[in-house]
Amino acid sequence: MICLERIEELKGVEDRGEEIFIGPCTTFTRLLESPVIMNHFPILMEALKVLGSPPIRNMGTIGGNIVTASPAGDTLPPLYLLRAEIELRIKESSRRMSIMDFIKGPGETLLAPGEVLTAIFIRKSPRFNFHHYEKVGARKALAIAIVSFGALLKTSDDGVVEEARLAWGSVAPTVVASPEIEAMLKGCRLSNQVLEKAGQIARAVVKPIDDIRASADYRREVAGNLLLRLALKNGKPS
Ligand SMILES: Cc1cc2nc3c(=O)[nH]c(=O)nc-3n(C[C@H](O)[C@H](O)[C@H](O)COP(=O)(O)OP(=O)(O)OC[C@H]3O[C@@H](n4cnc5c(N)ncnc54)[C@H](O)[C@@H]3O)c2cc1C
Repeated sequence: MICLERIEELKGVEDRGEEIFIGPCTTFTRLLESPVIMNHFPILMEALKVLGSPPIRNMGTIGGNIVTASPAGDTLPPLYLLRAEIELRIKESSRRMSIMDFIKGPGETLLAPGEVLTAIFIRKSPRFNFHHYEKVGARKALAIAIVSFGALLKTSDDGVVEEARLAWGSVAPTVVASPEIEAMLKGCRLSNQVLEKAGQIARAVVKPIDDIRASADYRREVAGNLLLRLALKNGKPS
């Protein structure tokens, strides 16, 4: 039996040039305190700020959040959008894969028996000037996401979208992306009209369930509505 939280190599954040290493046993609080995360991945910062509560952020780790593979996991939409890769190790061998390939469904991953998640790697993406993460829950704090939504955008000085990455959490077994909406937004300004059209597509793409926290219909509606937030932030890099 090995207590992972005492292995120093599995903790911390390091700038390794083109990519950033995040130790899976790094707590959310430590990530929130990291200038490297703040500088390079503000979207992850936004998600960490609304994850659980201070005691949960002091104890919980990003690796635990990934391996838990909850559709409501707050770090997952940002990690998908940032195209994070993870490293898995067992004895002498290791393998690296994208987080999208690793997570198969609620609580289901490709982690083999005895394997340990030993690293998270995220390439720097300086081209995105617009970072957004929002979660809708029953309360503002200590509430699991009913729907979450993240966006990374590259916009021109006059607010035209040059590249868009969008992801929804808690509305399907895993994080949902929509290449169709991403392509549609390219070349557009983020007007309410454009985003309402995108919202209709989003409502068709998500596959939510009814559960104790919300109905599938509510989740579908909110998943589309959350796109309208992008209009509010249009042209204002965050
Ligand atoms: C009251 C409460 C509120 C919460 N609120 C939120 C919330 O708002 N948003 C949210 O996203 N989550 C929330 N959570 C869930 C929880 O905080 C996260 O899933 C957390 O990231 C778990 O981290 P941990 O280090 O405690 O993992 P653990 O619980 O220790 O581990 C989770 C699983 O991952 C495995 N594991 C962990 N690390 C590794 C590794 N390095 N390699 C291989 N396997 C590993 C463990 O064996 C276990 O199966 C909440 C939990 C509680 C109790």
